Amino acid sequence: MNKNRNIFPKLYQGPTIWLLLKVTDGCNLKCKYCYCKQKGSCKKMSFSTAKKSVDYFLNKFKNFKYFCISFSGGESLLNFDVIRKTVFYAQKKAKRTLFGGELLFQLYTNGVLLSPAINKFLFRNGFLIRISIDGPDYIHNAYRKFANGEGSYNIVMANAIALLKLYKTKNMERRITINSVFSPRLLNIQERIAHFVKCGFKSYIMAPTSSAPNTEFFFSVKDMDRFFNEYSKLIRWGIQQASMGWQKKSLRDKLYGFFPFLWKMPLGAPLKLYYPFCGAGVTSFAVLPNRNIYSCHVLAEENRGKVGNIINGIDNKMQMLYKHNDVDSRKECQKCSIRYSCGGGCLAENGEIYDNFFKPSKIWCDYIKRHSALDSKLYAKLSKKLIEIN
Ligand code: SF4
Ligand code: SF4
Repeated sequence: MNKNRNIFPKLYQGPTIWLLLKVTDGCNLKCKYCYCKQKGSCKKMSFSTAKKSVDYFLNKFKNFKYFCISFSGGESLLNFDVIRKTVFYAQKKAKRTLFGGELLFQLYTNGVLLSPAINKFLFRNGFLIRISIDGPDYIHNAYRKFANGEGSYNIVMANAIALLKLYKTKNMERRITINSVFSPRLLNIQERIAHFVKCGFKSYIMAPTSSAPNTEFFFSVKDMDRFFNEYSKLIRWGIQQASMGWQKKSLRDKLYGFFPFLWKMPLGAPLKLYYPFCGAGVTSFAVLPNRNIYSCHVLAEENRGKVGNIINGIDNKMQMLYKHNDVDSRKECQKCSIRYSCGGGCLAENGEIYDNFFKPSKIWCDYIKRHSALDSKLYAKLSKKLIEIN
């Protein structure tokens, strides 16, 4: 495996199976906007459950090009022992099962428990890292606090930088992605990214807080307008920054960091279709400590989206239901002009608003249509620029 390359464009173009193991419900932070509803229960996944999940999924999806096992929580590192054992087990099992496919690991973490020993393990196994840092200290500490109310920024950033230094020794820094959550109260998109760039990170994902209407984290129409002003600012700034090294490769690599949607679109080529949205229930699954399989880890928080369990496998009828709810089949999406770039939206987001998580939420549709219009402009500008410089 060449661990130096930017793997994300390939992973998103797939075909890839995404297996998420929720290794614990427990967490060592008390972030106000967290979607996890069962944090208090602190249930941990046993190694036997993780092992059975690997067996089942590797056998069922052995012909896929990429097979990515993600460890998530709560805070996943609270169950590091099971992560470690599962990685060794899956590597052995994949040698006998995956025919030409590539096995990858991904860790979702808040970064508090990263240590030299854990970093070494992640580095050696080429882990993709998703670390939650919201921005500079005053942004991060607004929501990401310990139980005693103290902000976690100093610890988390120091740990993330130590991991980054290690990854840099083998040019693997693009495997570390910063996950930054923004709320209507604290947008500051461009300021966040400028901060991550200054700290040396190369890959970032911005996600809005997701919540039902009439809560602090809900985006009103006015909030959306403010968000898109910020996003336009980021586009102008991103192009200016990326233009500093006029090499096709460096331009593309830098922009993959600023605008993750480009992972799904090869630059300088015709706009490629990318859908379904995340593959929930079709190519993406989550297993919980209770051994149930869900289409999505967020829906699983409310015991929704169950598609089977690791003993009896995925229920075929359930899988068909997901397969037949793509944008070509759904009445609401069939005629939508951006259906292939939207992919049908996030089921969990729909589930916050309607009982039926296959029914697209109007809030999502408005958001993604505006996003997509700006992204297309950006894409056109970049393609033109690439033609000019080649
Ligand atoms: S924007 Fe809305 S209607 Fe259009 S494809 Fe996406 S979810 Fe469906
Ligand atoms: S449905 Fe939404 S929350 Fe669930 S996996 Fe897909 S994108 Fe993520």
